Amino acid sequence: AVVVGRRVKSRRKWRKVANVLKELEEGCDTSVGRLRQVVDAMAVEMHAGLASEGGSKLKMLLTYVDNLPNGTEKGPYYALHLGGTNFRVTRVHLTGQPSPVLEHEVERQPIPPHLMTSTSEDLFDFIASSLKEFIAKEGDGSNTSQDRRELGFTFSFPVKQMSVSSGILIKWTKGFSIVDMVGRDVAACLQEALERKGLHVHVAALVNDTVGTLALGHYHDPDTVAAIIIGTGTNACYLERIDAIIKCQGLLTTSGRMVVNMEWGNFWSSHLPRTPYDIDLDAESPNPNDQGFEKMISGMYLGDIVRRVILRMSLESDMFGPISSKLSTPFVLRTPLMAAMHEDDSPDLIEVSRILNDTFEIPDVPLKARKIVVKVCDVVTRRAARLAAAGIVGILKKIGRDGSGGITGGRSRSDMKMKRTVVAIEGGLYSSYTLFREYLHEALNEILGEDIAKHVTLNVTEDGSGIGAALLAASYSS
Ligand code: BGC
Ligand code: MG
Repeated sequence: AVVVGRRVKSRRKWRKVANVLKELEEGCDTSVGRLRQVVDAMAVEMHAGLASEGGSKLKMLLTYVDNLPNGTEKGPYYALHLGGTNFRVTRVHLTGQPSPVLEHEVERQPIPPHLMTSTSEDLFDFIASSLKEFIAKEGDGSNTSQDRRELGFTFSFPVKQMSVSSGILIKWTKGFSIVDMVGRDVAACLQEALERKGLHVHVAALVNDTVGTLALGHYHDPDTVAAIIIGTGTNACYLERIDAIIKCQGLLTTSGRMVVNMEWGNFWSSHLPRTPYDIDLDAESPNPNDQGFEKMISGMYLGDIVRRVILRMSLESDMFGPISSKLSTPFVLRTPLMAAMHEDDSPDLIEVSRILNDTFEIPDVPLKARKIVVKVCDVVTRRAARLAAAGIVGILKKIGRDGSGGITGGRSRSDMKMKRTVVAIEGGLYSSYTLFREYLHEALNEILGEDIAKHVTLNVTEDGSGIGAALLAASYSS
């Protein structure tokens, strides 16, 4: 009788786990129909954000970048990049001629976590010191004259620009919280810190990471019209016609266009498939009600969504044995580890077992439970990738490159003449997480149809956000 009782209990336990999984799958529905609704909502919000200040959760920020560089300047140009996780210093050598390869050096380091919540002086002193060390290592050859050096600053947070080289921080994202910075001119803070260090360096451009990525993408391929970042955070920018930016009547640019920083991480629509895990994650985050799209897509959050599902499963059943307190610790499961579990192809999912043990201190997870964990990772990542794809198609729709009829009108989708369209893309989730990338491509094909999708190319740039900022510094310094 005891044995039978145990078996019944065990069956009940797996049934509970299966129910949690089923609910998750339903909650994360990204059928093509739903993705199309997200596409439409994205395009609608883009219009609203361009129509008036505060017209949408999509800020659609002006960048004042109206010409994308072709690199005809000469000399070394510098970039500093403050991202979500890493900090980078870059030097680019321009020869005066556009070149298929841009000679450059990059130094990367993780951002010391305490600086993310410290004071602006601490943060900017760290940044300026890193540049000072980088320059000190230069041979004499790099800067032949005593000229001041020109620098582009890639600052991967929402900024209200006053010009290409100045702008105030609107708010922090991705876990940063340096209260005294909000509302201040980011370029001026950096310029002051550089001067405190005695550096003869001029901040010639202040750019979002998406804008740097677009600049480099466009330098290599002039059909590039937009850039996406999917890393710690997520965002997009694109080239917009100046007359479509209704909230800024009277803007004049020589090209008739301007790069718009969408800040799509803050996009929201009732069509987004949201689960109780997302609601809890948002409520417990340092920025509740903010960055809703980002919290479903980007690397900072995916691992934590998975952790929340596993916690729920182990509360409902004892599938992982006694509950480990680590399961209740926010952000212990980093997204790269989640990706490693998802892509574990070892026999019996040994990696999954090792990571669960290392991360949550749950030893000897049975194979059946390991398989469920992989499935959870799959559901969460697939949703993220497909939503990002819908966002991309939303941009294409707004600029008439989704093949839906804006260009030639009237004719059927199949005989439309689609212009070749390139989207530059950067960030660890896309470049290092194969399944994420595959799901994203698959969704693009599903939404656009293969006839249209074949005209759309996603082009990975590496360090584009930094190199592009140096290019922008070159073309906007004078
Ligand atoms: C920021 C954007 C940035 C993106 C990618 C978001 O959290 O708001 O400005 O482009 O992360 O780094
Ligand atoms: Mg980044």
